[in-house]
Amino acid sequence: MSIRCAICGLEMNSPEKAILEGWVPYVMEGDSEQEGPFCASCLDALFETNEYGEFVLMEKYRGKISYLDGGGDEMDPDDLDMDGIVLEYCEN
Ligand SMILES: [Zn+2]
Repeated sequence: MSIRCAICGLEMNSPEKAILEGWVPYVMEGDSEQEGPFCASCLDALFETNEYGEFVLMEKYRGKISYLDGGGDEMDPDDLDMDGIVLEYCEN
């Protein structure tokens, strides 16, 4: 079983390994929960933690992130705008 980051599309073939590397199953965008999973690189680049230890999308990125649903749907062309930015972070 493999999992895929809902932002950059990075795949990890072991959920356990992913967790060890800092992936999280969900994040908060404002007051709403957004299901992931999300990789450590994206978390580092785009999120901050709140008082409960949850990852919250930074204010400046709200409404600008396109989440992959992992269901194999075609990517919306609008998603491509974010790709360059996110991949840059994730290659670090
Ligand atoms: Zn990612």
